[in-house]
Amino acid sequence: MSAMAVLHLRGVTKVYHMGSVDVRALNGIDLDILDGDYVGIMGPSGSGKTTLMEILGCLSRPTDGAYTFSGERVDRLDDGGLALLRGQRIGFVFQTFNLLPRLTAIENVELPLLYRRTPRRERRRAAVEMLDRVGLGSRAAHRPNEMSGGERQRVAIARALVNQPAVLLADEPTGNLDSATGETILELFEALHHDGQTLVLVTHDPRIGERVGRVVRLRDGVVESDQRRTGISKDPRFGDHPAS
Ligand code: ADP
Ligand code: MG
Repeated sequence: MSAMAVLHLRGVTKVYHMGSVDVRALNGIDLDILDGDYVGIMGPSGSGKTTLMEILGCLSRPTDGAYTFSGERVDRLDDGGLALLRGQRIGFVFQTFNLLPRLTAIENVELPLLYRRTPRRERRRAAVEMLDRVGLGSRAAHRPNEMSGGERQRVAIARALVNQPAVLLADEPTGNLDSATGETILELFEALHHDGQTLVLVTHDPRIGERVGRVVRLRDGVVESDQRRTGISKDPRFGDHPAS
C-alpha cells in the first residue's frame, strides 16, 4: 500500500439482494485516495457512485474485498466501530444540506462535537473558527430558514469540517444551487484543497470535473478511468502519470 493512501480499496464489491435478484452495484473496485487528493467521482446514473460513497464514508460495508481507512480494516469493523470511525474521521456534505432547522448555524456546526462530548467552550471555539473559515462568521446566530442555499451549504461544510476529518465526502454538493452560488462552494473546496484537506465528491457536472485534481469514472460498478489533472497540485508526485 502507498504510505500516503488515506483510503485504500482492493476488489471492493457490493451486492444488493432484491428478492431473488442480486444487483452487483460495485464489481471489484481498486482505488487509492491519497492524502491531499481532490477527487471527483463521475459516471452515468446507476454506475455505483452513491454505493461507493456510502462505503467510503463507512455508512455501509463491502460485500467482498478490502477497505482500509488510515491503516484500519473497515470491512472487519462491527457497526459500533463503523459508527465511531464515521463520526470522528469523516465529514459529509449532502446535496440537501441536512441542517437541523431549529438550531442556529453555530449550533449546527457544534453538533458533531456534542456527539463526541467535547466540552462546551471548546465546541464553541471550534465552531466559531469553522464558520469563519467558510466566510459565515457574521451568520452564526441565524437559523437555516434565514439563510440562502449557498449559506446553508457553507454551514454544512463547516459542520463537516469541525472534527478535522481525514476526508471530506460530498455527494452532488452543488446540485441544489444556482451556478453562481455553486461557484462560491467550488471556490471554498479549492481553498480547502489548497490547505491540504482530502476531498472526494460525486458530481454530474462536467464543469466541476474540469476543476478537481483527479477524476475517477465509474461504469457498471468498475473504475473505467482514473486521471489526474496536471498543474493543480504543487506536489511534484502528483504529476502526469496515470494514477492507476
Ligand atoms: P449511482 O449513484 O451512480 O446512480 P448507485 O450506487 O445508486 O449508482 O446504484 C448502483 C446500482 O445499484 C444500480 O443498479 C442501483 O439500482 C442499485 N442499487 C443502489 N442502491 C440499492 C439498494 N439499496 N437496493 C438495491 N439496489 C440498489
Ligand atoms: Mg447516486
